[in-house]
Amino acid sequence: MADKKTEKNKQEESKKEECIFCKIASGEIPSDKIADEENFIVIKDIHPVSEGHCLVIPKKHYKTVLDMPSSLGGELINIAKKQGLRLIQEKKADGFKIVQSNFKAAGQVVNHVHFHVIPYKEGKKVGRV
Ligand code: AMP
Ligand code: ZN
Repeated sequence: MADKKTEKNKQEESKKEECIFCKIASGEIPSDKIADEENFIVIKDIHPVSEGHCLVIPKKHYKTVLDMPSSLGGELINIAKKQGLRLIQEKKADGFKIVQSNFKAAGQVVNHVHFHVIPYKEGKKVGRV
């Protein structure tokens, strides 16, 4: 039992070491950072579906929302609201979506949980999401 746990921990550790969002959160890889909060960072998406598309990412590695402690929910929603409001005020968006995918079948590509904040303009099509 103890051996199994150790093996699982080792696997989790190696996933973190290879994780692009862990590297961005630690500063090992540069990013276009918009905000640095207590438990989250906000960065510009490298392939934005609309101008201003950003990602809210926990600093700690959690694969999906199922792994993320619910105690982070309050801070997360405050950050997402702040970013949505910024997109409306600064980017002149008419609306925004908060999108989050869990597991490959649902379209999760980066295996470190993250929340897209995507601005929309009236009458303008947005692809992919
Ligand atoms: P998904 O896992 O499907 O929710 O999407 C992952 C998102 O991360 C995509 O929108 C990518 O464009 C974005 N992404 C991947 N690598 C980077 C990076 N190095 N910097 C910023 N955004 C990234
Ligand atoms: Zn990670």
